[in-house]
Amino acid sequence: MATYHTSLVWFRNDVRLTDNEAYYKATVSSQFVIPFFCFDEHLFETSSFGFPRIGEHRATFLYDTVANVYEQLTGVGSSLIIRKGNPIEEIKKIAQQLHIDAIFYGQEPAWEEKQRESQLQKLQQIYPKVKLIPCENFSLLRSEQLPFSLQNLPTNFTAYFNEVKKVLPTTPITVFPKPVAKKLPQEWYDGNPDDTIPTKLSIFPKIDFTNATQETYFVGGEHFGKERVKEYLWKSNAIQVYKETRNGLLGKNYSSKFSPWLAVGAISARYIYDEILRYEEERVANDSTYWLGYELFWRDYFQLVAKKYGKQIFLPRGIKNKQQPIEWSREFAEHWKNGTTGFPFIDAAMRELRQTGFMSNRMRQNVASFLIHDLHIPWLYGAEYFEYQLLDYDASSNYGNWGYIAGVGCDPREVRKFNIHKQAQTYDPYGEFVHHWIPELKKSPSSYPSPIVKLQF
Ligand SMILES: Cc1cc2nc3c(=O)[nH]c(=O)nc-3n(C[C@H](O)[C@H](O)[C@H](O)COP(=O)(O)OP(=O)(O)OC[C@H]3O[C@@H](n4cnc5c(N)ncnc54)[C@H](O)[C@@H]3O)c2cc1C
Repeated sequence: MATYHTSLVWFRNDVRLTDNEAYYKATVSSQFVIPFFCFDEHLFETSSFGFPRIGEHRATFLYDTVANVYEQLTGVGSSLIIRKGNPIEEIKKIAQQLHIDAIFYGQEPAWEEKQRESQLQKLQQIYPKVKLIPCENFSLLRSEQLPFSLQNLPTNFTAYFNEVKKVLPTTPITVFPKPVAKKLPQEWYDGNPDDTIPTKLSIFPKIDFTNATQETYFVGGEHFGKERVKEYLWKSNAIQVYKETRNGLLGKNYSSKFSPWLAVGAISARYIYDEILRYEEERVANDSTYWLGYELFWRDYFQLVAKKYGKQIFLPRGIKNKQQPIEWSREFAEHWKNGTTGFPFIDAAMRELRQTGFMSNRMRQNVASFLIHDLHIPWLYGAEYFEYQLLDYDASSNYGNWGYIAGVGCDPREVRKFNIHKQAQTYDPYGEFVHHWIPELKKSPSSYPSPIVKLQF
């Protein structure tokens, strides 16, 4: 007999059915399940520097991801209730309409999402009989696997990884299988006979989608996320040379490109990690296969930092409380953003970001360093612009990495400054990357704008 009559599953940045602890546990323990997703009103706000908090690339990717789960669920006689606004208010409306015994949800590391969890706890005061069941869907390691408390989180990644290494999983970590779906209670359909999936434009009416030229391999949804894992590991075997190619700038397979699916939770880090272990077992285990798994711990680390420091990682002075430039050039910032600084290496990456929503890790480091240490613009400007443009925007990873390069985050070094000339020579020696994104440079290099600043090293 089911433990609960009716449960609600609140999908957040875990929009998938496989390895979704919340969805799995709700389904196996309840007679009826109400899957629910809300496009949070925070998405429609403007950041402190005036950028929209979501742009066309991520909006499309997120929408497609939600649509994919909707289709999967309706295909098996269930559904996904999709709303826009404050998710807690929307849950409240559902609770007013239907009797709910339990709410299952994945806990998230970042501040704003944590605030929502606190609001949910307050809602429980109105409905004390509703049981709240928090789950862990976002990180690779579960909190009980960590060999330290959050309070004692090591202050830099190396120290963290030295600790975590001791408990590194060598066998598949629990992946919750996709359960057999449960129906919504009939009262739901009686009260909402026309409840279907809203259109993308009705969710994001202010976004102009007509210019989107998204790389075709970044298609939102659990199905495409799994396909990408299959392709990068099993079909192309690109994982076997990841360590040598991961600093690449052009093409599909220099790195895994898993990040957009990870950010919305269309695939889980645990699923990827298990696939790597399986690959090592069945095909090859080498430095590269190890290294891809290792990179996932950077993601976990920044989540723990976000969880520990809360709002502080989003503040200009960061967790080190470091003074930021007060006077800075708006004009330089515009050039950086538009890819017109006169430094083709930087401009190419910024154009790639704007056109596709993606940028390699190597170039993210370069453009961030350039903004902060060469143009002397507050790092938050760059972080907020990335939030707007990045397809794989993830609060902990984005603000964590920006803080790291700015020297206000979890890093023993004061600053991380990159010599962009050296970087261009090392990573784009034949100018292929630059010419790809700035084709006019090949035709008439002399007409390219002059650099806006003189670099100092
Ligand atoms: C300024 C700056 C901002 C960034 N913002 C984001 C962001 O918003 N979202 C995001 O997912 N990553 C962010 N990163 C980290 C990193 O650049 C991307 O995760 C990576 O480029 C994604 O490509 P990939 O999936 O091919 O990575 P791979 O090289 O194939 O790595 C596999 C996975 O490991 C994780 N990973 C690798 N490097 C990092 C890292 N430095 N920090 C955290 N996780 C990492 C990612 O989940 C990635 O998908 C940022 C880095 C910088 C320097």
